[in-house]
Amino acid sequence: VDAGTDPAGATLSSPPAARLRPHASHKGSHGDVAVIGGAPGMAGAALLAARAALHHGAGRVFVGFLDPDARALDPRQPDLMVRAWEGLGLDTMAVACGCGGGEAVRMALPRALGARALVLDADALNAIAADPQLQSLLAGRGRRGVPTVLTPHPLEAARLLARDTKAVQADRIAAARELARKFASVVVLKGSGSVIAAPEGAVRINPTGNARLAIAGTGDVLAGWIAARLASGESAFEAASAAVYLHGLAADRWPADRPLTASGLASS
Ligand code: AMP
Ligand code: MG
Repeated sequence: VDAGTDPAGATLSSPPAARLRPHASHKGSHGDVAVIGGAPGMAGAALLAARAALHHGAGRVFVGFLDPDARALDPRQPDLMVRAWEGLGLDTMAVACGCGGGEAVRMALPRALGARALVLDADALNAIAADPQLQSLLAGRGRRGVPTVLTPHPLEAARLLARDTKAVQADRIAAARELARKFASVVVLKGSGSVIAAPEGAVRINPTGNARLAIAGTGDVLAGWIAARLASGESAFEAASAAVYLHGLAADRWPADRPLTASGLASS
């Protein structure tokens, strides 16, 4: 379902075709995802994004905790490789899954902003909203054509635009477009009817999803799915559109008699 100028968005009314893997591929062929996050008390958010990326088809998923005391293993997901964030590669990163509002995210962001492809969510966006230097680093990478996806909910979008949430919600398409232009990045303005906007002005409105998604952690899962698709080589606009569509579809198809949880969604 499209608004504005991009007729190709009509393809969102059906699920993206399943991705086929060439027979001779190996785990390095499917893309690395590195999740930076997990400030003290928020390790779960980073692990959710990492698990989500893994279950969405990433070849290898690394987690770099911002909390130096975080445990070095997810015992329920031993395929994740846990590192110090300073040691992560820069192939693809989903950042800010529970980055917290502290000093650690401000230390990590300049490095993350050098990644080959990048998803920025939550407290990473809040840190950028508060720091003009980080804002120009972000806009600069977008202008060089480096794939970048921002996934704000309305309050995070309002901070990035220096206005209030009501103004963002009053015209969600205009707000998403303005953010996309300002930071030369693809923007997913989350919430009922998520808006996906590209810097050149293309806009899609996602038709799937429901209020069962309004629980802790579902945004982290979305960031992980977008990162996995970026790592496989999809464009930022396609990766964001498809992940948002499938995220909503998973919620719409979730059994009515089973509570929807972010960890369940991450493993689906
Ligand atoms: P966050 O705001 O980071 O916690 O992420 C919440 C996720 O759930 C986003 O992907 C939202 O788009 C989605 N979501 C929340 N509420 C709704 C709703 N009422 N309808 C559809 N999707 C929703
Ligand atoms: Mg969130």
